Amino acid sequence: MLELGFDPTIPEAAFYGSLALFALIERILPRRKDRYSFMVRWGSNFFLLTLELLIAWVLVPGGLIVLAAYAQTQGWGLLNSLSLESGLLPVIATVLLWDLVKYWEHRLLHRIPWFWRAHVVHHADLDVDFTTTLRHHPFEVLLSLVVGAIAVVTLGLSPLGIFVFSILAPVVATMSHANIRWNKTVDKWLRLLIMTRDAHAVHHSALRKETDSNYSVVFIWWDYLFGTYRAAPEQGLDRFDVGVEYFRTPQDLTVARVLTMPFRIPKDLPSSSPATATEDGSESAT
Ligand SMILES: [Zn+2]
Ligand SMILES: [Zn+2]
Repeated sequence: MLELGFDPTIPEAAFYGSLALFALIERILPRRKDRYSFMVRWGSNFFLLTLELLIAWVLVPGGLIVLAAYAQTQGWGLLNSLSLESGLLPVIATVLLWDLVKYWEHRLLHRIPWFWRAHVVHHADLDVDFTTTLRHHPFEVLLSLVVGAIAVVTLGLSPLGIFVFSILAPVVATMSHANIRWNKTVDKWLRLLIMTRDAHAVHHSALRKETDSNYSVVFIWWDYLFGTYRAAPEQGLDRFDVGVEYFRTPQDLTVARVLTMPFRIPKDLPSSSPATATEDGSESAT
């Protein structure tokens, strides 16, 4: 049994705690009015979370932290070969490298047609709130686990760094999806450092050129650095159309439709291209 030296249940507490916190803030400071049944959406999104937990429990029972600890004992990967076992440096390097890996994984999910088929489920939510954070098709979960395992072993990521990232990521990701009225000045300063609700909202626009922007998970710097940052949707933050061009009916939000989405995506659509506007502003009233 590997001794981790820290409590691996703390990231779980951060995950469920941030869900509860932002669910509560959404009740107090809601932004856009729900246009679709939240019961149906939440049913699908929590069902996807259940599948994700099941897949992770079967494939990597102890999580990637245990894999990282094992790789460390074997001296596998970049950071482990640099003899940075102690101190803050490997922890900081891991948090940054892991976030960078997540950025590029996300870009490839948009760029490669077969990956987009899985990731489209996240974008097909027709209202965005804290539960959209949970909305990932099992195919995407599998892909993400494989990418994660490869990154942990080849980069020799620090278990403590993964632990810190696993606390940071759910808080920032849930905040960046939460349907909350956000102070513009706070957002302006915060988005110098991390992905914010208003910046990630652009990523959920139905206009493909806007969908293909703001990919970062925790630190927004990757979008600045690689030229994928977009400040706001063309239609304005309170009026833009959420979702994708296809899958726009209330039936598309049900569990059965969500699970079969990768097989029903229109074939002739390019993986990444400017899209025509799908609806006029009047339908997207908030
Ligand atoms: Zn995306
Ligand atoms: Zn999102």
